[in-house]
Amino acid sequence: MKVAKFGGSSVANATQIKKVANIIKSDPSRKVIVVSAPGKRFSGDVKMTDLLIDLCYAKQNNQDYELHLQKIMDRFQEIVDELELDHHILEDIHQTIQKYLYFDASPLAQLDALKSIGEDSSAKIVSAYLNRLSIDASYVNPKDAGIFVSNEPGQAQLLPQSFPIIYKLREREDVAVVPGFFGYTTENDLVTFSRGGSDITGAILAAGTKASLYENFTDVDSVFAVNPNFVENPKDISVLTYKEMRELSYAGFSVFHDEALIPAFREQIPVCIKNTNNPDAPGTMVVAERDVTNQCVVGIASDVGFCSLYVSKFLMNREIGFGRKLLNIFEDEGISFEHTPSGIDDMSVIFRDHQFTPEKEKVVIDRIRNELHVDTVSIHRDLAVVMIVGEGLENTIGVAAKATASFAKAGVNIDMINQGSSEVSMMFGIHAVDLEKAIQSLYKEFFTDDATNLKIPPVSVRGHK
Ligand code: ASP
Repeated sequence: MKVAKFGGSSVANATQIKKVANIIKSDPSRKVIVVSAPGKRFSGDVKMTDLLIDLCYAKQNNQDYELHLQKIMDRFQEIVDELELDHHILEDIHQTIQKYLYFDASPLAQLDALKSIGEDSSAKIVSAYLNRLSIDASYVNPKDAGIFVSNEPGQAQLLPQSFPIIYKLREREDVAVVPGFFGYTTENDLVTFSRGGSDITGAILAAGTKASLYENFTDVDSVFAVNPNFVENPKDISVLTYKEMRELSYAGFSVFHDEALIPAFREQIPVCIKNTNNPDAPGTMVVAERDVTNQCVVGIASDVGFCSLYVSKFLMNREIGFGRKLLNIFEDEGISFEHTPSGIDDMSVIFRDHQFTPEKEKVVIDRIRNELHVDTVSIHRDLAVVMIVGEGLENTIGVAAKATASFAKAGVNIDMINQGSSEVSMMFGIHAVDLEKAIQSLYKEFFTDDATNLKIPPVSVRGHK
């Protein structure tokens, strides 16, 4: 059996939901369906989840929320009417919203409850529409599906006891339509995953039911090798590994929620990213292993908003505990770091910029000066991270040479190189202003017809794989 997840664009309006129903109908092995909340119908549109968040804040700030409520109900009504469904669904949605608006709970718990209504209503609508088409399907609440989570509002984590219960979904005769994005604590409190978390639900259900395939339907035919905002018509990726996908999503590939693949990865469930608007296209497969012989680099990812803190101290290499003390300061100040390249007398800590308020910056710098007695400490903002990702990197000679040569050709200065800590990626820190030309140059080097390194030369393989 397969688990299929449909993202926000796939359930944004009635036309899209009809496509979803055809996809479900065309393959009876699609037994568990996970849906997002209605997403944007056109650029500039607002996602249902954001409308629900606005509604919640209006209520919590004692503002008039009627207009927000109206917008939400109008969108659902448009969908329900176009699908010619009974209006009792709308009454049900309205009642659920009212219940949560007058919910006796903390503001965060109320926010999670209201946020969940987008997915919850999508699932009710999709299952009712499938029934209209004479497909045996039911709405299955995440609690009944067995999704039990920790009580961390907006950041729920799955509790391991969920898996045996989820497995029982296999026993169902009908198609189970489960809302994505939320679960319940063992105390019966509704808690959502982080934003974009319907992907997490899909991966959890695929892992829990030990599905033969997890299909993730979105609005692109496949994953591109590079961000199409930088390169026109970039190449598609037909197959990549979980590790490659994880590294690519970390550095800006927004196809998947960062954490989403972990449950599928642990159970080794193959994932296929497909297009609701073109379901016959083969899509991109994400699997445990792939043949790297004809393509060692699978994609180039990049992300901005990084900051680097550089410290130097003569004889740092002999000072036992220096790195720990430095990172302790970051820990104490609640800053999570991303990378820590180091030299003999120098160390840099790379982290996401948004965590570093001017007050935090002052505290961190003062503490480093006073507690670690460094020679220099400096901050570099507006950094971008570029990652070249591919399982073949580890065993291929010359990838770094080609990458650095392509940076040089584009006139881009490299601030930092990190290779070796990950087997599947090579990371470069550059100035954000140089990002576009750096990516274009790398793409040309690795992916265009005259790219020379797509094949691993026999001499380069070290032989232990
Ligand atoms: N609807 C939620 C969001 O917009 C979750 C999702 O779509 O995956 O973040």
